[in-house]
Amino acid sequence: MRLVLLGPPGAGKGSFAQAVRDRWALAHIASGDLLREAVKAKTPLGVEADRYMARGELVPDALVTALIRERVAGLDAGRGFVLDGFPRTEAQAVALDAALAGAKAPLDRAVYLKTSPALIVRRLAGRLVCAGCGQNYHATNRPPPREGVCDRCGGRLETRADDRPETIAHRLEVYERQTAPLLAYYRSRGLLRDADGDQSVEALVAALTAAFRQDGLLA
Ligand code: AMP
Repeated sequence: MRLVLLGPPGAGKGSFAQAVRDRWALAHIASGDLLREAVKAKTPLGVEADRYMARGELVPDALVTALIRERVAGLDAGRGFVLDGFPRTEAQAVALDAALAGAKAPLDRAVYLKTSPALIVRRLAGRLVCAGCGQNYHATNRPPPREGVCDRCGGRLETRADDRPETIAHRLEVYERQTAPLLAYYRSRGLLRDADGDQSVEALVAALTAAFRQDGLLA
């Protein structure tokens, strides 16, 4: 299955993708994680991307699209994926469609995690991310068994620099202006499935498992 996840920052795209990647045998490709790795490694792409990410702006389409195209092209033939955080503009969606059409492996669904604004702010303000493997936690909703430590890889948990209140507000504006129009793009192609992003990850996984089974996308 080839999936795209849509929804504002804090909708739970990363937590959902982390919950289904093994269960549904999908490659999890998170544009934000790939960019943060590049920033940490101080590659030319990372240095350039950091200027935008620190301000909560989108990284230019050409840079992100090249990164994702390379990842998707590197997957074993027939391997499904869940794209988390990409596409975020219509230009990126068009580029993705072109790349997948070239590989004769079109997208199966775009899932929209519809989420209440108050919940988004609460989720982002408490978010903790593993510096080693990118696993998501939350200070109150999903605390790690050992404080400050990832139970998946033992890495250190940290708060993302762009999860500060002033940057959060700007990222939400950027989402409304540049990314929300993608809902119409996928809806008009018959690919959009709405999901309730306010529910727990477990409930969301159960709801989408049932929906995808019914659609013949999951066994
Ligand atoms: P995320 O981890 O998905 O919240 O992304 C963190 C930041 O990385 C965003 O605020 C953007 O600055 C950048 N970013 C991630 N994905 C994209 C994308 N598809 N297009 C442009 N910028 C992106």
